[in-house]
Amino acid sequence: MPRVLLFATTTGYQTRMFGEAAERLGVELIFATDRCDVLEDPWQDAAIPVRFHEEDHSVEMILERARTTPVDGILVVGDRPTTIAAMAGKALGIPGHQPTATAVARNKLLTRERLRDSDLLVPWFFPVEAGADPQEIAATVSYPCVVKPLSLSGSRGVIRADDAPSFVEAFMRVRKLLATPEILAERNEAHDTILVEGFIEGWEFALEGLLHHGALNALALFDKPDPLDGPFFEETIYVTPSMAPASMQWDIVDAVARAAAAIGLKHGPVHAECRVSDRGVFVLEVAARPIGGLCAGALKFQKQGTKAGGQTISLEELLLRHALGESVDDWRREEPASGVMMIPIPERGTFRGVEGVETAKAISGIDDVRMTAKPDQQLVPLPEGASYLGFIFAHGAATGDVEHALREAHTHLRFIIDPEIPMLQSPNG
Ligand code: ADP
Repeated sequence: MPRVLLFATTTGYQTRMFGEAAERLGVELIFATDRCDVLEDPWQDAAIPVRFHEEDHSVEMILERARTTPVDGILVVGDRPTTIAAMAGKALGIPGHQPTATAVARNKLLTRERLRDSDLLVPWFFPVEAGADPQEIAATVSYPCVVKPLSLSGSRGVIRADDAPSFVEAFMRVRKLLATPEILAERNEAHDTILVEGFIEGWEFALEGLLHHGALNALALFDKPDPLDGPFFEETIYVTPSMAPASMQWDIVDAVARAAAAIGLKHGPVHAECRVSDRGVFVLEVAARPIGGLCAGALKFQKQGTKAGGQTISLEELLLRHALGESVDDWRREEPASGVMMIPIPERGTFRGVEGVETAKAISGIDDVRMTAKPDQQLVPLPEGASYLGFIFAHGAATGDVEHALREAHTHLRFIIDPEIPMLQSPNG
């Protein structure tokens, strides 16, 4: 039975999707997750415990396990383990992204520098020490601009500023986020720096791709039909195939291929975010991993030449096949349009539950509504928070129908949230 090593931040729902795909394919999955290795296999899944901030030691642990349990392929879920996975792959002689490239992909400043040096479009940008005085910088910046951490994901800490006062406020907010115990625990020195860059007007797209020894296979181009104008950048709807003109779609795929090459990414899954303005395509980032959360559920693939409505496979299955060396060139995204809505967190508070799921599911075109927030979970919206309440999936004859179904289903959901009671300030502050 072939074996694939899957690096993941937690053994959450995305890893379960890989688990199901592996079972269908007859592949054994071995997990490598960041957990406290003094606990004796608390998840009962014989995962290899690694520490994302101790890269060399983690790679040693992987190599030690691989001596008795050889692996044939490597995949990653989430941004943080991409470099450890690349290092392990290199040491084991398994084709994949190079560690030097994944390190650039995970760092927004290094990414900007690489894209600029390869003559790709980038906004003006400069790094600032997180401890710097924002008042001084505010006077030198042109607006609108964006303030962001170098190495977080999911739009965490990404804030638009339109003038000096909002710049100072945004900067202080990002600095505070980077000083929280959870982020300090990552021990990532990139968190000592904040990136300031020009705001790019325009529409946004996401490209799900698979690099095969340097050649980009564009698996799906998603439109993000909700305007992402800030001040925070919560992603909601992804729909595919894109409704953009064919020439623009070509330009996006071409820019992503060039950006991946500039970063040095060559072999394995990539997920890219782009904004298209009247100046052209700006690649915001190319992550060395597949699409996150449950969003992959919106993608199904079919072997070329099979009839519409025939058997499809999931993105996870496609990636497992590729990780094991199979050519996946003759798999294409299925014919119908599809999409997903990441259900945004409407307010800070304690999640109690949701009503209207069955009504939402009954809307024509809706495949599923999956809540991932747990009852009593504390909800923290962007820019500090990190996740969604759940996901709505839809299919349709045309992309516009899918978008419409997702929006309609969302209107039927009623979220029960106990709002957070603001802390009372003492008269002395
Ligand atoms: P993350 O990796 O956390 O998702 P990004 O740098 O990709 O961070 O930014 C998240 C989102 O914020 C983008 O998808 C986009 O909507 C918005 N954004 C980020 N930078 C800019 C920018 N310079 N101009 C316009 N929008 C931006």
